[in-house]
Amino acid sequence: MIPHRLAVVGAGVSGLAAAQELVRRSDLAGIASEVMVFEAQGQVGGRVKSESFQGASIDLGAESMLVRSPETMAALGALGLADQVVRPGTTAASIWNGRRLVPMPRSTALGVPPHPLRWEVIRLLGLLGSARVAAEPWLRGSRPGADDPLGPFLAGRIGHTAVRRLVDPLLGGIYAGSTELLSIGAVAPHLLAALDRDHSLLRGLRQPSPASPAVGFISLKGGLQTLPLALARALPPTALRTGTAVRRLSRGAGDSIRVEMDGGDSVEVDGVALAVPAPAAAQLIQGISGELARELGRQEYSNVATLTMAYPAAALPQRLPGSGFLVPRGRGRVVTACTFLDQKWPHLREPGLVMLRASAGSVGEEWPLEVDDATLVTSVHTHLRRFLGLRQVPIAVRVQRWQPALPQYRAGHLSWCARVDGMTASLPVRLALCGSSFRGVGLEACLRDGARAGASLWEQVAHAPSGTSSAPVTESDHNA
Ligand SMILES: Cc1cc2nc3c(=O)[nH]c(=O)nc-3n(C[C@H](O)[C@H](O)[C@H](O)COP(=O)(O)OP(=O)(O)OC[C@H]3O[C@@H](n4cnc5c(N)ncnc54)[C@H](O)[C@@H]3O)c2cc1C
Repeated sequence: MIPHRLAVVGAGVSGLAAAQELVRRSDLAGIASEVMVFEAQGQVGGRVKSESFQGASIDLGAESMLVRSPETMAALGALGLADQVVRPGTTAASIWNGRRLVPMPRSTALGVPPHPLRWEVIRLLGLLGSARVAAEPWLRGSRPGADDPLGPFLAGRIGHTAVRRLVDPLLGGIYAGSTELLSIGAVAPHLLAALDRDHSLLRGLRQPSPASPAVGFISLKGGLQTLPLALARALPPTALRTGTAVRRLSRGAGDSIRVEMDGGDSVEVDGVALAVPAPAAAQLIQGISGELARELGRQEYSNVATLTMAYPAAALPQRLPGSGFLVPRGRGRVVTACTFLDQKWPHLREPGLVMLRASAGSVGEEWPLEVDDATLVTSVHTHLRRFLGLRQVPIAVRVQRWQPALPQYRAGHLSWCARVDGMTASLPVRLALCGSSFRGVGLEACLRDGARAGASLWEQVAHAPSGTSSAPVTESDHNA
């Protein structure tokens, strides 16, 4: 039997999980196959990137992983990472209320407080804001559509104050976007599930949910990039092609796909898993389907900068409260969130130092991408001084800009995904799309989506009518 040739484009967590699944299925079926993973950067990981900074392994992109399923922990164990797993020292965050940092209520569902008349909620929303949330069970309201915008729905249910001070900063921290426009079903399916349990959102949230409890937040001692590095190590030694950007995909002989690389080389394969952000996928797919390219090109992304800053311990007038803080949207906002790295992650503590990680930039706040490093660092430090009373400037800063950073799951996202899936399935070639653009931005969702895409591509190739699989060709055979 002719071995299958399969390509994965993008070696972020999603692409590596897709490649791992392709190799696993091919081994299981006892069918020889060659899996090639093309990555534009010189290293794997994409938006998961760790670096040594002031003696600690810090993360410049994703910095914690919310694990919901025990299978994810088992998968980390199978990759040999069990002894690398670390848990946060604290997850108690605060919110800036315009005058000071106020601790966030302990139990909220994406910012919606099921018990709004507790003191921890009143001190953040005020008596009126909390009373407005508490009135929710008595309001009449129809169930929203699964793909409707979250902002208007929540404002109608729990009032603008709770949305502005609690929900928006929390969601802003995850998507770097505005609650107003995000799809309820795509970003907050558990709110819809609560409405399935009770007409009142609050009462529904108070009832036990059938979903299994999450394992919790974790990181890895050497930084989260340890995960994509471990995934890459588990692939056959010749699979990975870092520093190799794919320029476009086109139709090859029969139903094969030609993967054309920057620099002119090309290779013909039986199927491709595309694991790059949707706008990048749109560019690559143009030569195969203009219609799918147009659809993929619609997705909007936010741009974000992260600044990891080391201060002398003496720069702080007092001990930092909890794991960090969030800043609600508003005029003149500079920092959107700040993590107290050595409080949240005890393994990062370095004697005599305080390590902060600030995030700047969001949809409609593009300035961090437009200014130089010196201006960005000065603005962020000045802003942090206001929150924390810092008495000295940082002794070291690492700036990382992410462009694009995070996809915006706008109202209509679920039907967009369904349209993209339908168009992909009707192509005359074997293609699977995966990654944070589609079914979740969290690392656990990316791992799952990569594995799903790998399985889907394998099924397409394994069930292709015999004789349609392309014969192996040598690289550069098809140079234009
Ligand atoms: C600042 C920031 C903080 C975050 N924090 C968290 C967090 O704390 N927890 C969490 O769970 N998630 C977090 N996320 C989200 C999470 O990091 C991403 O959703 C996830 O890493 C996306 O993985 P991916 O593999 O789908 O895509 P990516 O990581 O974007 O990988 C895509 C890869 O494709 C490559 N590529 C693109 N075009 C081409 C081409 N033409 N040819 C070859 N290769 C190409 C890119 O170089 C990249 O390596 C954060 C994201 C950002 C930006």
